[in-house]
Amino acid sequence: MPNLVLLGIQGSGKGTQAYLLKKNYGFDHLNIGSLLREEMKKKTDIGNDIKEYMLKGDLVPDKYIFSLVGPILHDNLKGVILDGFPRTLKQAEFLEKRMPVRCAIYFELDDKIAKERLSHRRVCQNCQQNYNLLLNDVKKDNKCSKCGNPLELRMDDNSEAINRRIAAFHDETKPVIEFFKDRDSLITIPATKKPEQIHQEIVYILGLAKPA
Ligand code: AMP
Repeated sequence: MPNLVLLGIQGSGKGTQAYLLKKNYGFDHLNIGSLLREEMKKKTDIGNDIKEYMLKGDLVPDKYIFSLVGPILHDNLKGVILDGFPRTLKQAEFLEKRMPVRCAIYFELDDKIAKERLSHRRVCQNCQQNYNLLLNDVKKDNKCSKCGNPLELRMDDNSEAINRRIAAFHDETKPVIEFFKDRDSLITIPATKKPEQIHQEIVYILGLAKPA
């Protein structure tokens, strides 16, 4: 099973595609944003230090990211999806030295659509499942259909933080896209297609076989 990197502006559907690949093909999903939120929740030293960046919608400085992902990444990992990492060139170089990646899949999406999707996103505070009011997939009781807990707006899904996250994507993460392009390992998929259609496209491009 190959290791994959998922790239794209927030709201481009990386989490949804990671979920489908995990569910249907048994990939491991490493979501860096969730790891960071977990540190904040547990009020660890790192969690306390990164809080301000996360709330504002700025990227967390590389040194924190390296200390969190450094111990996880190694060159015999297989079938891992990196979701939300790398987001800076330094992080891409860090990754390249530690583990092989078959390709980076870039979900291309307009800023305007990303903003719209993020401001309509609701997240289960318990299991982290994402929902979107635009897709009418939120039930009237505003509860998670997987675990029944209340859905909430994410702390950084407000317009100020959304704008800063989009700016960070253009300034810091766009060069990462070029990084993978230069290595002939970039796949670009328009993120406006339906999630299931995008999933099938990924399966076809990577030639994934259903697990027995
Ligand atoms: P996400 O859950 O992927 O939308 O990420 C939420 C927030 O976590 C981002 O806005 C950043 O503040 C932080 N973050 C996530 N991944 C990274 C990363 N690779 N480098 C720096 N900050 C990150």
